[in-house]
Amino acid sequence: MSIRAIANGAAHLLVKRYTGPFWLHKRWLNKTQWLSYSELQIIQLKLLRKLVRHCYNSVPYYRRSMDELGISPESIRTLKDIEKFPIINKKEVLKAGDSIISTKYPRWALRKGRTGGSTGTPMIVYRTLFSLGTEHAFARRQWDWAGVGMREKSAWIFQRVVAPPEKKDARLYDYDPVMRELTLSAYHCSADTALDYARLIQEHGIKVVVGYPSAIYTMAKTCINSGFKLDLRVVISTWEAMTEPMRQTISDAFGCKIFDFYGSGERVVAIHKCERGSYHIVPEYGLTELIPMDGCEGGHYRVVSTGFWNKAMPLIRYDMGDVVAGSDESCSCGRNFPVVKSIIGKEGDIIQSPSGVQLGVTAVVQILYTIGGTNNILETQFIQDALDHITIEYVPGRKFTEDDLANMRNSAARFLPRDLKVDFEQVEAVKRTPMGKIRPIVSQIAR
Ligand SMILES: [Zn+2]
Repeated sequence: MSIRAIANGAAHLLVKRYTGPFWLHKRWLNKTQWLSYSELQIIQLKLLRKLVRHCYNSVPYYRRSMDELGISPESIRTLKDIEKFPIINKKEVLKAGDSIISTKYPRWALRKGRTGGSTGTPMIVYRTLFSLGTEHAFARRQWDWAGVGMREKSAWIFQRVVAPPEKKDARLYDYDPVMRELTLSAYHCSADTALDYARLIQEHGIKVVVGYPSAIYTMAKTCINSGFKLDLRVVISTWEAMTEPMRQTISDAFGCKIFDFYGSGERVVAIHKCERGSYHIVPEYGLTELIPMDGCEGGHYRVVSTGFWNKAMPLIRYDMGDVVAGSDESCSCGRNFPVVKSIIGKEGDIIQSPSGVQLGVTAVVQILYTIGGTNNILETQFIQDALDHITIEYVPGRKFTEDDLANMRNSAARFLPRDLKVDFEQVEAVKRTPMGKIRPIVSQIAR
């Protein structure tokens, strides 16, 4: 155990739990989760008004645009008044440059984060040190739902770089004894390394795994194929959409419960799955609007959000380009948080055909894994390179045979639109985003 690992862990613990308002907010969130819908709205309005005032007083971009639009902090009297602001996206934020950063804090006191380049444009996001503790408090409330204790060990497979992605022979893990976290390199997770990862998790006595579903799925598949038994209690999956076949395989392999959470580097929205299996929009985190999408069946909505807590680079009505399926249902867990049916993913994650058929991730993955009966693939990526053509890249598992390929071809021919030509290509690994994530569908054509 190295001194560096202990020092790093101590710094993380300090920043996440003791420098900021972590404990205060954790206690607060434990109470607010049981409030009524109208009590939650009162909290949201209070936080929104505070945020708008902060923006007006210390963020040049908002001062200018609010003056132009005739919005004063006092004019925000109801949650509906948020609509006075225009919806903005990454393009506008990049254009605003430094003017969207609050002048209240010296730049050295801010933490620099990077958001996903899954849409091709990574963005630097500034955060206050205090907001990190708050972020951690929100995450930990969901861990409470999952029954994971504060001192419980966990393994992480996500964007944290343990070894340079291009290096094949580096050490691919790091154990932090203070936070009790084992980090495994998502960039190197493959059929070759996954079994080592599973062994490391077992050796450390870890029962909780957090990370990209694609990497956890690869591990699950590899464990099943090689007969390695790893018992887990909880998998917390995040940052990528989890498909039903993946969920099934992970739960079969590890005998665990799976909790998804969806958040953003921009710190505007959080959607947490509860112990009863509903996806809840977390109301104390931000004000989230679901904007109906035109011409899309199945109640799909764009997620537009205003985060309450990151005062360094506040974003009002920010559209991340993510799509969810709406739901009118409430949840039996007793929380009065809005529910969405599922998280579809990025807006571009749709395959289309010349005849106008649109298929989302769940639909296309279903064709390969369930209907096609092919359960021997580790990774897939659907690349639409022309309106009438897609290439399906796949990484075969150890038990993959010619029959599996034939099954995939058959089901693609049967279930994908006829006017869409399909080619299969075996690859060593599908392409990751700069954050190490897998996008199941990559559309290279305009919608
Ligand atoms: Zn619930």
